[in-house]
Amino acid sequence: MPVSTPDAMEVRTRFAPSPTGYLHVGGARTALFCYLYARRHGGQFVLRVEDTDRERSTDESVRAILDGMAWLGLEHDEGPYFQTERLDRYREIVQRLLDEGNAYRCWSTPTELDAMRERARTEGRKPRYDGTWRDSEETPPSGVDPVIRFRNPLEGSVVIDDAAKGRIVIDNAELDDLVIQRADGTPTYNLSVVVDDMDMAITHVIRGDDHVNNTPRQINIAEALGARRPVYAHLPMILGEDGKRLSKRHGAVGVMQYAADGYLPEALLNYLVRLGWSHGDEEIFTLERMIELFDFDTINTSGSVFDSKKLDWMNQRYLQRLPNTALAAALAPHLTTLGIDAGPDSPTLAAVANLLRDRCVTLLEMAKSAECFYRAPVTFDEKAAAKWFVPATADVLEKTVARLATIDDWNAASVQGALEETVDAVGGGFSTLGPPLRLAITGGAASPAMNEVIALVGRDSVLQRISYAIGLCLDSD
Ligand code: GLU
Repeated sequence: MPVSTPDAMEVRTRFAPSPTGYLHVGGARTALFCYLYARRHGGQFVLRVEDTDRERSTDESVRAILDGMAWLGLEHDEGPYFQTERLDRYREIVQRLLDEGNAYRCWSTPTELDAMRERARTEGRKPRYDGTWRDSEETPPSGVDPVIRFRNPLEGSVVIDDAAKGRIVIDNAELDDLVIQRADGTPTYNLSVVVDDMDMAITHVIRGDDHVNNTPRQINIAEALGARRPVYAHLPMILGEDGKRLSKRHGAVGVMQYAADGYLPEALLNYLVRLGWSHGDEEIFTLERMIELFDFDTINTSGSVFDSKKLDWMNQRYLQRLPNTALAAALAPHLTTLGIDAGPDSPTLAAVANLLRDRCVTLLEMAKSAECFYRAPVTFDEKAAAKWFVPATADVLEKTVARLATIDDWNAASVQGALEETVDAVGGGFSTLGPPLRLAITGGAASPAMNEVIALVGRDSVLQRISYAIGLCLDSD
């Protein structure tokens, strides 16, 4: 597989998800930060699918990751590379490590390894491989396929100047000789990551801090291979409200679920960038502005709590500010999902969306609210119907329908005039007409201003809906 060799100084980041589930918010935030850093520095953003765990990796998950990235607009410059297409390369590197004395075969059986760990535990040491085969001259047992272990340095320490977390120092004495190739010949995560980061000339490894324990091991392997060490930036975890790492338990969902629920990608990205990074008191960032400002120095050092209310606030804000045509275009697929077909005589989606933009948190909610502009309600809010669809309401609705029918120039102002006149004629104020009219037209108890709604729904449908409601009022006795 061709992997390009970039200029020495070019910034190259990578997002390296394991396709074992959806692209979740934590992954999306990592991808965003990798993307921003590369764009900020005019570099390259590489997408790499770490699919060597064949049992847990699925094509569906690869698709979900690619769809999620595309929906968010986080375009990669290279890839996606698939680790399963690079297995020969990993084997070649393992062989090189063996040839150069930086790796060795280990025939310890699972039972022996268990006993080793148990012994360490009872002696109060960390459970770890004890190096039995590191320098062994013994004849290997027959019929056992060995694993291959990295010969970790015994002395010294690994010093990492993490761009987000600051300095981290780990003694080599803490690290055991990790397995880099399994008995079946497949590479382990720590090996393939190092080979890929080296071959793909990654300059900045930006990832979740659940990987921070792997970093000194990866650095040692990279050093044995003479690879240039990338800068590391480990991002603090995203937490649920209980302070534990965000997971499905907290109702966390894949990125594409946010798409289906009617969040705008710009709003989710803006929410995610603030989840772990700040620039003064600013809250609202377009992608361009993020690219302009993003850097490691203001990445949070502690975990951030995922706050769905803030995401809702952000989404609403973005909905409010979207130009009409863009809002209509974003809304259209949600109407289709709900089976709503805006026919040629229907109000334009841009007009409907404009009327609803301040009232909805998501596009899905907006699509549901838009339904009454495209079809007459078949069900009515039960509580409101019990109160308003009663014989006493029939009169005011009859007067309204009669007056509306006389309007020549049907628009929000003329409708408003007609409604006011009717209310004046009937007496009792707008509260006697507003709620039953709203219920008749929209099926619900809340909506934008009735004159606007009525103007958009259109004369024929409005007159039909009110007449139908009058029937319900009279039948309710
Ligand atoms: N594949 C790893 C994961 O999805 C990430 C590895 C890395 O970023 O180094 O957790």
